[in-house]
Amino acid sequence: MAGWGYLEDASGAKGTADRICVPKDEAELLSLLDEARQAKAVITIAGGGSGLTGGRVPNGGWVISMEKFRKLDIGRGTATVGAGVTLHELHAAARATGQFYPPDPTETMAFLGGTIACNSSGSRSFKYGATRRWVERLRVALPEGEVLDVRRGQPIDFEVPEIPQPPAKKHSCGYALKPGMDYVDLFIGSEGTLGIVIEAEVRLLPNPPQLLNGIVFFPSDEASQNALEGWRTVPNLRMLEWVDDPALRMISQRYPDVPANAKAALIVEQIIESDADIDAWAERLAQYGALEEQSWFGSSDADRERFRKFRHALPETSLAISERNGFPSLGTDFSVPVEKHREMLAFYRETMDAIMPGHYCIFGHAGDAHPHVNMLPASQVEYDKGYEALMTFAKKAASLGGSVAAEHGLGKRKARFLPVQYESQYIDAMKAVKSRFDPDWRLGRGTLFG
Ligand SMILES: Cc1cc2nc3c(=O)[nH]c(=O)nc-3n(C[C@H](O)[C@H](O)[C@H](O)COP(=O)(O)OP(=O)(O)OC[C@H]3O[C@@H](n4cnc5c(N)ncnc54)[C@H](O)[C@@H]3O)c2cc1C
Repeated sequence: MAGWGYLEDASGAKGTADRICVPKDEAELLSLLDEARQAKAVITIAGGGSGLTGGRVPNGGWVISMEKFRKLDIGRGTATVGAGVTLHELHAAARATGQFYPPDPTETMAFLGGTIACNSSGSRSFKYGATRRWVERLRVALPEGEVLDVRRGQPIDFEVPEIPQPPAKKHSCGYALKPGMDYVDLFIGSEGTLGIVIEAEVRLLPNPPQLLNGIVFFPSDEASQNALEGWRTVPNLRMLEWVDDPALRMISQRYPDVPANAKAALIVEQIIESDADIDAWAERLAQYGALEEQSWFGSSDADRERFRKFRHALPETSLAISERNGFPSLGTDFSVPVEKHREMLAFYRETMDAIMPGHYCIFGHAGDAHPHVNMLPASQVEYDKGYEALMTFAKKAASLGGSVAAEHGLGKRKARFLPVQYESQYIDAMKAVKSRFDPDWRLGRGTLFG
């Protein structure tokens, strides 16, 4: 996907700005912050622009792009990375040393700073969790000009309440406040509203000796759902993604070898420890009635890249269709506890079939009970109904113990869901923290709190 301009992001939202600033180093960033403070200018931080919630889309004021913060030092088990390094660059540099950075939001044009701001997850989070788990140190500029260099375990020195976390596996919605929490956790997921990430130290893992990748096709949706449930406990599985029939049809022009009789697919990636791990798949495929002969498996780097591109083609294509139809994207980012996955999925389909029949598809991180509904409205009426349905889905997800923001954050376009997740006392606590770091609310105005 091509890059995004400073006034937009991948959601299709567009904004305006009075000034675009691209500081070349920390000194220039701090001087800009000083100037902005004196001018009382509102500041929006720009990363790679791949966000899906309009967080980096400005409503006037100044944009500060972090693209020139390009430090990239790879060590053993750790990397020091500037905010403007893309995930593509970080993955490539780690790979060259026989290591990998576990979080893998599939869009590799994202900057490391943006993924920290959003606490991004992605396909490998099934095993490795979200970005939060992999950050050891942060260097952050505060809007008033101070710079904090904080390590994992360095506690905040002010009181905050514990904000209840839902039982869903994935959740990244507002500030994850907890008494005694550390600064690193406070800044991760704060979506550019508390401080500007300049640089981070992240953990790397050694590459597994062997990986098996597969795209397993099923003759029915029911068979794929049964396999999804059965395969959550497969040892060393690090990816368990699901694709529905309309999503397969959506990309079949690009991938004509998708079997015509496939009604759903699971995308898997497993760390292989012995030949028995590979042999076990034949039985597993038979047990769940997969289309054995037509499914794809591979274990080379080239296979993995091919399958990664296939997975990435799903959001890329649905975003391109939205753009072509002239609408910003309408996609869900709700998760629920795994035992509620089928109930939520049935609710999605019932609602979507009523408001936008034939104009949506569902795919994504179903291993974590977090598939994305991608709405593809063909008219303004459908768009408006879809926009309303997002709120209905948010309420349903929250009522099932889920999250209204599992991995994309809330940004500006989804800030309306924050009160669905949290009672006002918790939102007030978050606002108090915001005021502490940014007394005039100049940083990322409109994001998270609307
Ligand atoms: C095709 C596609 C697939 C995707 N798949 C996934 C997926 O599987 N999982 C997932 O989690 N996400 C996914 N995303 C979403 C996106 O890649 C992530 O949200 C990403 O983290 C955004 O990073 P960015 O650098 O592009 O940030 P931007 O879009 O530039 O900004 C996002 C937010 O972060 C803030 N920000 C950016 N840099 C900084 C900084 N240095 N300091 C403080 N705040 C900052 C911005 O102000 C904004 O609020 C996908 C996106 C696309 C387009």
